[in-house]
Amino acid sequence: MVADHGVLDPETDPLATFVLEPDDLRELAGRVVGSPEAGTRTHHAPWTRAPLATLPQSTAEDVARAARAARAAQRRWGAVPARDRARLLLRVHDLLLERQSDVLDLVQLENGKARGAAYEEVADVALVARHLGRAAPRYLAPERRPGLVPGLTSVRVRHDPVGVVGVVAPWNYPLSLTLGDVLPALAAGDAVLLRPDPQTPLTALWVVELLEDAGMPRGLVQVVLGDGPTVGAAVVDHVDHVVFTGSTETGRVVAARAAERLVPSTLELGGKNGMYVAEDVDVEAAAEGAVRACFGGTGQLCMSVERLYVHRDVHDAFAAAFARRTRALRVGTGLDHRADIGSLTSAEQLARVVEHVEDALSGGARVLAGGVHRTDLGPYVYEPTVLEGVGEHARASRDETFGPVVALSPVASDDEAVAALNDSAYALNASVWTRSTRRGAALAARLRAGSVNVNDGYQASWGSVAAPQGGRGASGWGHRHGREGLLALTATRTVAVQRGVHGVRVGGRTVLPPLGPGRVLSGDPERWTAAATAVLRAARGARLR
Ligand code: NAD
Repeated sequence: MVADHGVLDPETDPLATFVLEPDDLRELAGRVVGSPEAGTRTHHAPWTRAPLATLPQSTAEDVARAARAARAAQRRWGAVPARDRARLLLRVHDLLLERQSDVLDLVQLENGKARGAAYEEVADVALVARHLGRAAPRYLAPERRPGLVPGLTSVRVRHDPVGVVGVVAPWNYPLSLTLGDVLPALAAGDAVLLRPDPQTPLTALWVVELLEDAGMPRGLVQVVLGDGPTVGAAVVDHVDHVVFTGSTETGRVVAARAAERLVPSTLELGGKNGMYVAEDVDVEAAAEGAVRACFGGTGQLCMSVERLYVHRDVHDAFAAAFARRTRALRVGTGLDHRADIGSLTSAEQLARVVEHVEDALSGGARVLAGGVHRTDLGPYVYEPTVLEGVGEHARASRDETFGPVVALSPVASDDEAVAALNDSAYALNASVWTRSTRRGAALAARLRAGSVNVNDGYQASWGSVAAPQGGRGASGWGHRHGREGLLALTATRTVAVQRGVHGVRVGGRTVLPPLGPGRVLSGDPERWTAAATAVLRAARGARLR
């Protein structure tokens, strides 16, 4: 799909000349539900600001039309047995791995990240596809629950498709946060109305092509393009469940809009994630882990670490090792694995990073590594940056930077570390490093976070896709991954079948008189309530659940 590989030279390699073949682009553009009134939009490559593609956009009426088409497709898909739907996910898994180099190129070109970070997205989605491909039929199978009258009330809980799921995705993980959220919806029997971020539409359109090539019925995933406050908001108006990933501020707007329609939402929002390094660690191993935790995805990752608390007994040794390893990272651009850290994605992202660093420095912070905007490598390339002495009220201490910047501070004890880690409105991810897994588990139990990783930054919990992943507080609500993430996209129905209402007759004789609520009204209410109370007491004594 891409005609050349190598590190970009912004002077001589305008991306427009070497990106997509016109036929490929036409094919992808043809999948947008758009119309001429909405016009077109050209999006640009972060590495050079060169135009990548010009795509049709959608009006609010296009969104309504796409939702109708998705709903029609869902009626047939929802009737397909869960086992057959799951098979599609396993085919997607295989095809994704086969075609990975195409999507790695697209993710890098649209987002600017390093190839290794783009590969993390491929691996992440493959894990989700495999897990749900194997486990979804079991998660979705009707469950037996204890009934009201043991032996006479049989209860099944069913997990039916919810209908059309709206996915409003950001730009930072363009494959994980589109395909990764589409797969559980498809497994649940839902259709999807997908609105990718305007910065990363090509990856989302490629995803639809992949799904169809894997055997997904055409029309089940509809893509609309346009601004968040117009097209993103219109998606919320037409779906039965909203999956939103983005900032806390926008999450509040989306949740309120969904709530107006009494439609549930899953909100995966920001984080200001902290890591604690205890005094018993192998300093070099912890420093390497911290580098991965802080700078993966150029720090534009909701799970990445931006606050690093180190026990004072190892603080200086850790700081030296961490700064050395950070400075050794290869920063750059290019469709290969030569760079460890890529570019930021946009001018807004660069401005936020620069502002946080300058604000910290003006308050007395010092730079241990990085702190340089590398215009020689690309317009938005910023070196991975380690700061120490960042003031408690500095923006880099409290607000999400969403870039490759971390504030390093010493702490005197586990208690001080726990207090510092919990001192945030966000509660998405936390990380603890200690040689003692028992101490790690005890610390984890005291942390307010949707996930805690012991001796890892974020990959251990994120990659364990059988377990739920989500935040609390300003980091959102609901979960992706695991049984919880799948069942969130279903409508739960309890079916209770009552036996005995007609009485039980054996050999022409009534051995059990008709039961049921009618007896309360038409029988002797006082005798009935006395008997019912006796039964309640007996059930308590018999420890019935
Ligand atoms: P953002 O909130 O500005 O935008 C997110 C998306 O929402 C964009 O595509 C935007 O166009 C759209 N949008 C804007 N207004 C909207 C509206 N009224 N209705 C519907 N959609 C609207 O966030 P961003 O800066 O683009 O993304 C980065 C943020 O996402 C960070 O805060 C990051 O932590 C968060 N994030 C969270 C997770 C997670 O899983 N918790 C994952 C990735 C990113």
